[in-house]
Amino acid sequence: MKVSFDQILRRISTIDRDIQELNRFKNRIPGNRVYYSNLNATFDGKLKELKHEKDSLLELTIKNPPNWILGVINSFAIESRSENKSYTPKGLGNLPKLEKTMNSSRNVKQFLRDIPKTEIHLHLEACLSKSSLLELLNKNEIKISEEEFNQKFIFNDLNGFIQLFFFIQSSVKHESDFSILIDSVGQYMKRDNIIYSEVYLAPTKFLQIGLDFNKMMEVVIRGIRKIKSEDEREIKLLVDVSRTFGSDNAMNNLKRVLKLEYPEVIGIGLGGAELLGPAKDYEEVFALAKQSGLRVVAHAGEDDGPWSIWDAIKYLKAERIGHGTSAIQDPELMKYLKDNKIPLEVCITSNLFTGKYVKLAENHPVKQFYENGIIITINTDDPEIFDVRLSDEFLILHENLKFNIDEIMDIIKSGVYATFHPEKDELWSKIKSEIDKFRIIYDL
Ligand SMILES: [Zn+2]
Repeated sequence: MKVSFDQILRRISTIDRDIQELNRFKNRIPGNRVYYSNLNATFDGKLKELKHEKDSLLELTIKNPPNWILGVINSFAIESRSENKSYTPKGLGNLPKLEKTMNSSRNVKQFLRDIPKTEIHLHLEACLSKSSLLELLNKNEIKISEEEFNQKFIFNDLNGFIQLFFFIQSSVKHESDFSILIDSVGQYMKRDNIIYSEVYLAPTKFLQIGLDFNKMMEVVIRGIRKIKSEDEREIKLLVDVSRTFGSDNAMNNLKRVLKLEYPEVIGIGLGGAELLGPAKDYEEVFALAKQSGLRVVAHAGEDDGPWSIWDAIKYLKAERIGHGTSAIQDPELMKYLKDNKIPLEVCITSNLFTGKYVKLAENHPVKQFYENGIIITINTDDPEIFDVRLSDEFLILHENLKFNIDEIMDIIKSGVYATFHPEKDELWSKIKSEIDKFRIIYDL
């Protein structure tokens, strides 16, 4: 479709105006009302839609650009090297300022996408793209209308999120389906240049429908090795023994893991409903895992207070904390995390969506964590469900939380050293040399 440049600019300024207005309305919702989180999520949904539309407009290619646009672009290229001098091209009114801001934020966005990264808090099912989910539904002859399918991805509350998660899980019917799931992780990593990830695989729901754990794992491992050989991207697995189904179930999951002999399976995690399963119930499971040489991590402080994080440290000896958001309420815990170098797997979009401890990106405690010397890593948690990329999460740090590029690079480095990768120095030097190249290219 042919659209004129004028129409695009007009649409962008309308979007900017709408975003401003929506933000104004959103800030007026009283925080202490029962309808707060639903309404807030609706605003966020609409804001996200508008931001996406704006981004896709900014990514359009202009065929045969008129000369005056080329002039503007060239001047900006020169400007960006000569610091802070304002430039007003003729005949554009106040648009150049908008253009220039867009230019630099586009630079940062593209830079964050291009540089190699690691991610360590990622759930297997939540990396399944819409097209791969359709492939899975077709394979398993699950009939669903296009409208119904699309509807599942439009949700504004936790319930909608859970329904979608369950829907994805229930689309898996055979062990062989896991090749589609793991391929999706590979595609997700490639899209955002993630070169190493540690992925949570929660087997319980699949075992309950009669799938065989060993066959399932065989398919996953085959997929991981294919991705490594074809694309050099590395995936390791943390089996989520789950706190939703009780400690016996978790122990059974651990025993299954202990029988495996794949170097790709490096440890266990405790995910699932935090409020349903206190960490101390899983002490024995985690002690055995640790004794057996597995790495151990746990979700905590996502849906419950700082005491839940203390429990994960005390009873489970968790080496990293998934989320850890509520640590902000306990200065002693913050100090403990810092002194003991226990990294937090921060997932900003996910935290905003659940809205338990933070409702605005600007208020996310990640800034205080960082300033207090706690090791921070940035992650998406459920990228395809929240429709978010790892680079988007870093962009939130930059745009909403005022982290500068050096600080973001420091966090990317922490993201490498918080992995369970056996050669962290080597991995970081590989990433660092690529980052240095991209900083020159993007002038950042
Ligand atoms: Zn998670």
